[in-house]
Amino acid sequence: MDVIWNLTRVCPWDCAVCCVSAFHVCNTTEYIVQSAQKEKDKELTLAEKLTVLKILADKNFEIDFSGGDPLYYDEDFRVVEQVTRWLPSRKIGVSMTGSKITDAKLELLKKVGIVEFTLDNLPERENPFRPRGFNFASMITMKKCVTTGIKTRAVTVLYSATISEKNLEAIYRWLCENNVSEWELLRFYPVGRAAKLAKLTPSNLEYLKVMKFLRGFHGFTKIFFQHSLRIIEKVLKCPAVIDSIGIFPDGQVTACAWAIDDDCCPFKGFRLGKLPEDDLDKILDKARKIPEYSKRAEFCRTIAYVRRKNKMEGK
Ligand code: SF4
Repeated sequence: MDVIWNLTRVCPWDCAVCCVSAFHVCNTTEYIVQSAQKEKDKELTLAEKLTVLKILADKNFEIDFSGGDPLYYDEDFRVVEQVTRWLPSRKIGVSMTGSKITDAKLELLKKVGIVEFTLDNLPERENPFRPRGFNFASMITMKKCVTTGIKTRAVTVLYSATISEKNLEAIYRWLCENNVSEWELLRFYPVGRAAKLAKLTPSNLEYLKVMKFLRGFHGFTKIFFQHSLRIIEKVLKCPAVIDSIGIFPDGQVTACAWAIDDDCCPFKGFRLGKLPEDDLDKILDKARKIPEYSKRAEFCRTIAYVRRKNKMEGK
Protein backbone atom coordinates (compact mmCIF):
# COMPACT_ATOMS: atom_id res chain seq x y z
CA MET A 1 0.00 0.00 0.00
CA ASP A 2 1.29 3.47 -0.91
CA VAL A 3 0.34 6.29 1.41
CA ILE A 4 0.66 9.92 0.43
CA TRP A 5 0.67 11.83 3.69
CA ASN A 6 0.37 15.60 3.54
CA LEU A 7 1.93 16.41 6.90
CA THR A 8 1.05 20.10 6.74
CA ARG A 9 -0.67 22.67 4.55
CA VAL A 10 1.85 25.30 5.55
CA CYS A 11 4.36 26.23 2.86
CA PRO A 12 6.89 28.98 2.10
CA TRP A 13 5.30 29.30 -1.36
CA ASP A 14 1.83 30.14 -2.67
CA CYS A 15 1.47 28.46 -6.06
CA ALA A 16 -1.78 29.15 -7.89
CA VAL A 17 -1.89 25.47 -8.94
CA CYS A 18 -1.57 24.10 -5.38
CA CYS A 19 -3.78 21.03 -4.75
CA VAL A 20 -3.85 21.48 -0.97
CA SER A 21 -4.45 25.26 -1.07
CA ALA A 22 -1.31 25.68 1.01
CA PHE A 23 -0.96 28.41 3.63
CA HIS A 24 1.87 30.74 2.80
CA VAL A 25 4.33 31.55 5.61
CA CYS A 26 7.29 33.24 3.97
CA ASN A 27 5.79 36.68 4.30
CA THR A 28 5.93 38.19 7.77
CA THR A 29 2.76 40.24 7.61
CA GLU A 30 0.79 39.54 10.73
CA TYR A 31 -2.34 38.42 8.90
CA ILE A 32 -0.49 35.72 6.93
CA VAL A 33 1.40 34.46 9.98
CA GLN A 34 -1.81 34.32 12.00
CA SER A 35 -3.78 32.42 9.37
CA ALA A 36 -0.93 29.90 8.94
CA GLN A 37 -0.86 29.41 12.72
CA LYS A 38 -4.64 28.95 12.79
CA GLU A 39 -4.30 26.32 10.10
CA LYS A 40 -1.42 24.65 11.93
CA ASP A 41 -3.65 24.35 15.02
CA LYS A 42 -6.09 22.21 12.99
CA GLU A 43 -3.34 19.72 12.11
CA LEU A 44 -2.50 16.62 14.12
CA THR A 45 -0.15 17.19 17.04
CA LEU A 46 3.31 15.67 17.00
CA ALA A 47 2.17 12.91 19.38
CA GLU A 48 -0.79 12.10 17.08
CA LYS A 49 1.44 12.14 14.01
CA LEU A 50 3.82 9.69 15.66
CA THR A 51 0.89 7.43 16.55
CA VAL A 52 -0.27 7.47 12.93
CA LEU A 53 3.28 6.84 11.78
CA LYS A 54 3.55 3.77 14.01
CA ILE A 55 0.31 2.40 12.57
CA LEU A 56 1.60 2.82 9.00
CA ALA A 57 5.10 1.54 9.76
CA ASP A 58 3.76 -1.57 11.55
CA LYS A 59 1.90 -2.38 8.34
CA ASN A 60 5.09 -1.86 6.35
CA PHE A 61 3.31 0.62 4.06
CA GLU A 62 5.28 2.86 1.73
CA ILE A 63 4.98 6.50 2.75
CA ASP A 64 5.49 9.59 0.63
CA PHE A 65 5.54 12.67 2.86
CA SER A 66 4.20 15.73 1.17
CA GLY A 67 2.70 19.08 2.12
CA GLY A 68 2.79 22.08 2.12
CA ASP A 69 6.43 21.63 2.83
CA PRO A 70 6.83 18.47 4.93
CA LEU A 71 10.14 19.65 6.37
CA TYR A 72 9.08 23.21 7.15
CA TYR A 73 8.26 22.57 10.82
CA ASP A 74 10.69 20.94 13.24
CA GLU A 75 8.02 18.56 14.46
CA ASP A 76 7.37 17.29 10.91
CA PHE A 77 11.13 16.89 10.54
CA ARG A 78 10.95 14.66 13.63
CA VAL A 79 8.19 12.55 12.08
CA VAL A 80 10.32 11.91 8.98
CA GLU A 81 13.38 11.31 11.16
CA GLN A 82 11.42 8.73 13.17
CA VAL A 83 10.22 6.84 10.10
CA THR A 84 13.83 6.32 9.00
CA ARG A 85 14.22 4.18 12.16
CA TRP A 86 11.06 2.18 11.48
CA LEU A 87 11.05 1.59 7.73
CA PRO A 88 13.74 0.79 5.17
CA SER A 89 14.75 3.79 3.07
CA ARG A 90 13.19 2.36 -0.12
CA LYS A 91 9.76 2.69 1.54
CA ILE A 92 10.17 6.40 2.28
CA GLY A 93 9.76 9.35 -0.07
CA VAL A 94 9.74 13.08 0.62
CA SER A 95 8.13 15.59 -1.77
CA MET A 96 9.31 18.99 -0.61
CA THR A 97 10.10 22.50 -1.81
CA GLY A 98 13.59 23.87 -2.39
CA SER A 99 13.20 26.48 0.32
CA LYS A 100 15.47 26.74 3.36
CA ILE A 101 17.53 23.61 2.90
CA THR A 102 19.87 23.04 5.85
CA ASP A 103 22.67 20.57 6.59
CA ALA A 104 20.34 18.80 9.04
CA LYS A 105 17.72 18.35 6.31
CA LEU A 106 20.33 17.04 3.88
CA GLU A 107 21.54 14.54 6.51
CA LEU A 108 17.97 13.34 7.02
CA LEU A 109 17.30 13.10 3.27
CA LYS A 110 20.29 10.79 2.87
CA LYS A 111 18.28 8.24 4.83
CA VAL A 112 15.19 8.23 2.59
CA GLY A 113 14.64 6.43 -0.70
CA ILE A 114 13.74 9.37 -2.91
CA VAL A 115 13.36 13.12 -2.60
CA GLU A 116 11.15 15.01 -5.06
CA PHE A 117 11.11 18.66 -6.12
CA THR A 118 8.68 20.29 -8.50
CA LEU A 119 10.21 21.92 -11.54
CA ASP A 120 7.55 23.06 -14.02
CA ASN A 121 9.83 25.25 -16.07
CA LEU A 122 13.29 26.81 -15.97
CA PRO A 123 13.39 30.29 -14.39
CA GLU A 124 13.93 32.04 -17.73
CA ARG A 125 10.47 30.92 -18.88
CA GLU A 126 7.42 32.80 -17.56
CA ASN A 127 4.92 30.77 -15.58
CA PRO A 128 2.25 32.84 -13.82
CA PHE A 129 1.09 29.80 -11.86
CA ARG A 130 4.29 29.41 -9.79
CA PRO A 131 5.73 32.22 -7.66
CA ARG A 132 8.94 33.92 -8.69
CA GLY A 133 11.92 32.02 -7.30
CA PHE A 134 10.07 28.73 -6.79
CA ASN A 135 11.75 26.85 -9.62
CA PHE A 136 15.11 28.45 -8.95
CA ALA A 137 14.95 27.21 -5.33
CA SER A 138 14.08 23.70 -6.55
CA MET A 139 17.06 23.71 -8.91
CA ILE A 140 19.56 24.92 -6.29
CA THR A 141 18.36 22.36 -3.76
CA MET A 142 18.29 19.53 -6.30
CA LYS A 143 21.92 20.29 -7.13
CA LYS A 144 22.82 20.17 -3.41
CA CYS A 145 20.96 16.87 -2.98
CA VAL A 146 22.69 15.30 -5.99
CA THR A 147 26.11 16.46 -4.73
CA THR A 148 25.32 15.03 -1.29
CA GLY A 149 24.46 11.65 -2.80
CA ILE A 150 20.70 11.85 -2.22
CA LYS A 151 18.50 10.12 -4.78
CA THR A 152 16.71 13.05 -6.36
CA ARG A 153 13.69 13.25 -8.63
CA ALA A 154 12.27 16.26 -10.42
CA VAL A 155 8.53 16.40 -10.92
CA THR A 156 6.79 18.39 -13.63
CA VAL A 157 3.05 18.92 -13.70
CA LEU A 158 1.68 18.99 -17.23
CA TYR A 159 -0.72 21.88 -17.90
CA SER A 160 -1.05 24.41 -20.68
CA ALA A 161 1.80 26.59 -19.36
CA THR A 162 4.25 23.67 -19.13
CA ILE A 163 3.31 21.10 -21.75
CA SER A 164 5.14 22.64 -24.73
CA GLU A 165 7.90 20.54 -26.27
CA LYS A 166 10.36 23.44 -25.92
CA ASN A 167 9.73 23.73 -22.18
CA LEU A 168 10.07 19.99 -21.60
CA GLU A 169 13.22 19.75 -23.73
CA ALA A 170 14.83 22.58 -21.72
CA ILE A 171 13.97 20.95 -18.39
CA TYR A 172 15.26 17.56 -19.54
CA ARG A 173 18.53 19.06 -20.74
CA TRP A 174 19.05 20.77 -17.38
CA LEU A 175 18.25 17.58 -15.43
CA CYS A 176 20.72 15.53 -17.49
CA GLU A 177 23.44 18.17 -17.19
CA ASN A 178 22.99 18.22 -13.41
CA ASN A 179 22.85 14.45 -12.92
CA VAL A 180 19.32 14.37 -11.54
CA SER A 181 18.55 10.67 -11.77
CA GLU A 182 14.76 10.72 -12.24
CA TRP A 183 12.02 12.86 -13.77
CA GLU A 184 8.35 12.19 -13.21
CA LEU A 185 5.63 13.79 -15.31
CA LEU A 186 2.37 14.39 -13.51
CA ARG A 187 -1.18 14.87 -14.66
CA PHE A 188 -2.75 18.22 -13.79
CA TYR A 189 -5.54 17.97 -11.19
CA PRO A 190 -7.82 21.01 -11.11
CA VAL A 191 -8.46 20.53 -7.39
CA GLY A 192 -7.84 22.57 -4.25
CA ARG A 193 -6.88 26.11 -5.18
CA ALA A 194 -6.30 24.95 -8.76
CA ALA A 195 -10.02 24.18 -9.20
CA LYS A 196 -10.37 27.72 -10.57
CA LEU A 197 -7.80 26.87 -13.23
CA ALA A 198 -9.56 23.92 -14.87
CA LYS A 199 -9.03 25.64 -18.23
CA LEU A 200 -5.32 24.76 -17.98
CA THR A 201 -6.10 21.03 -18.19
CA PRO A 202 -4.69 19.36 -21.31
CA SER A 203 -6.91 16.96 -23.28
CA ASN A 204 -6.18 13.22 -23.20
CA LEU A 205 -4.90 13.52 -26.76
CA GLU A 206 -2.44 16.22 -25.70
CA TYR A 207 -1.21 14.04 -22.82
CA LEU A 208 -0.74 11.06 -25.14
CA LYS A 209 1.10 13.17 -27.69
CA VAL A 210 3.51 14.60 -25.14
CA MET A 211 4.18 11.20 -23.57
CA LYS A 212 5.13 9.89 -27.01
CA PHE A 213 7.43 12.87 -27.48
CA LEU A 214 9.08 12.38 -24.06
CA ARG A 215 9.71 8.71 -24.75
CA GLY A 216 12.12 9.89 -27.43
CA PHE A 217 14.46 11.33 -24.74
CA HIS A 218 17.34 8.99 -23.92
CA GLY A 219 19.72 10.98 -21.73
CA PHE A 220 21.08 10.39 -18.24
CA THR A 221 17.79 11.17 -16.46
CA LYS A 222 15.24 8.38 -16.36
CA ILE A 223 11.69 9.42 -17.23
CA PHE A 224 8.55 8.16 -15.45
CA PHE A 225 4.91 8.91 -15.98
CA GLN A 226 2.52 9.19 -13.05
CA HIS A 227 0.09 6.29 -12.83
CA SER A 228 -2.87 8.48 -13.84
CA LEU A 229 -1.15 9.28 -17.14
CA ARG A 230 -0.63 5.55 -17.74
CA ILE A 231 -4.36 5.14 -17.07
CA ILE A 232 -5.02 7.37 -20.10
CA GLU A 233 -2.86 4.93 -22.08
CA LYS A 234 -5.05 2.12 -20.68
CA VAL A 235 -2.09 0.21 -19.23
CA LEU A 236 -2.99 0.81 -15.55
CA LYS A 237 -6.15 1.11 -13.50
CA CYS A 238 -7.01 3.32 -10.55
CA PRO A 239 -5.26 2.05 -7.39
CA ALA A 240 -7.44 4.03 -4.94
CA VAL A 241 -8.11 2.13 -1.67
CA ILE A 242 -6.72 -1.13 -3.07
CA ASP A 243 -3.11 0.02 -3.41
CA SER A 244 -3.09 3.64 -2.33
CA ILE A 245 -4.66 6.13 0.06
CA GLY A 246 -4.00 9.68 1.16
CA ILE A 247 -3.82 11.23 4.61
CA PHE A 248 -4.46 14.94 5.11
CA PRO A 249 -2.79 17.14 7.76
CA ASP A 250 -5.74 16.81 10.17
CA GLY A 251 -5.67 12.99 9.92
CA GLN A 252 -8.54 12.54 7.45
CA VAL A 253 -8.01 9.46 5.31
CA THR A 254 -8.98 9.80 1.66
CA ALA A 255 -9.39 7.19 -1.06
CA CYS A 256 -7.25 9.37 -3.30
CA ALA A 257 -4.63 11.92 -2.32
CA TRP A 258 -5.74 14.24 -5.15
CA ALA A 259 -9.47 14.22 -4.32
CA ILE A 260 -9.20 17.51 -2.43
CA ASP A 261 -11.62 20.40 -2.09
CA ASP A 262 -10.49 24.00 -1.61
CA ASP A 263 -10.39 23.54 2.18
CA CYS A 264 -8.12 20.49 2.00
CA CYS A 265 -10.92 18.02 2.79
CA PRO A 266 -11.66 14.91 0.73
CA PHE A 267 -14.31 15.23 -1.99
CA LYS A 268 -17.70 13.76 -1.15
CA GLY A 269 -17.51 9.96 -1.25
CA PHE A 270 -13.72 9.86 -0.95
CA ARG A 271 -13.46 10.30 2.84
CA LEU A 272 -12.76 6.94 4.50
CA GLY A 273 -12.18 7.96 8.15
CA LYS A 274 -9.80 9.79 10.44
CA LEU A 275 -6.55 8.81 12.12
CA PRO A 276 -5.40 8.08 14.72
CA GLU A 277 -8.86 7.59 16.28
CA ASP A 278 -10.31 5.21 13.64
CA ASP A 279 -8.98 1.71 13.08
CA LEU A 280 -7.15 1.78 9.72
CA ASP A 281 -7.80 -1.93 8.98
CA LYS A 282 -11.52 -1.45 9.57
CA ILE A 283 -11.56 1.71 7.43
CA LEU A 284 -9.90 -0.11 4.54
CA ASP A 285 -11.98 -3.31 4.89
CA LYS A 286 -15.17 -1.29 4.92
CA ALA A 287 -14.12 0.81 1.93
CA ARG A 288 -13.16 -2.23 -0.13
CA LYS A 289 -16.68 -3.63 0.33
CA ILE A 290 -18.24 -0.52 -1.20
CA PRO A 291 -18.95 -1.36 -4.88
CA GLU A 292 -17.22 1.93 -5.82
CA TYR A 293 -13.87 0.70 -4.49
CA SER A 294 -14.19 -3.09 -4.62
CA LYS A 295 -12.37 -3.15 -7.92
CA ARG A 296 -10.06 -0.85 -9.80
CA ALA A 297 -11.73 1.62 -12.12
CA GLU A 298 -10.37 2.00 -15.63
CA PHE A 299 -10.39 5.76 -15.26
CA CYS A 300 -9.16 8.30 -12.73
CA ARG A 301 -11.97 8.68 -10.19
CA THR A 302 -10.81 12.13 -9.12
CA ILE A 303 -10.79 13.53 -12.66
CA ALA A 304 -14.19 11.90 -13.31
CA TYR A 305 -15.56 13.49 -10.10
CA VAL A 306 -14.22 16.95 -11.05
CA ARG A 307 -15.68 16.69 -14.56
CA ARG A 308 -19.11 15.67 -13.18
CA LYS A 309 -19.05 18.50 -10.63
CA ASN A 310 -17.98 21.12 -13.18
CA LYS A 311 -20.69 19.96 -15.58
CA MET A 312 -23.36 20.23 -12.87
CA GLU A 313 -22.14 23.70 -11.97
CA GLY A 314 -22.14 24.68 -15.66
CA LYS A 315 -18.38 25.36 -15.75
S1 SF4 B 1 -8.54 8.60 -8.46
FE1 SF4 B 1 -7.04 9.13 -10.06
S2 SF4 B 1 -5.31 10.06 -8.98
FE2 SF4 B 1 -6.59 9.01 -7.47
S3 SF4 B 1 -5.66 7.00 -7.23
FE3 SF4 B 1 -7.27 6.81 -8.78
S4 SF4 B 1 -6.23 7.17 -10.73
FE4 SF4 B 1 -4.86 7.90 -9.11
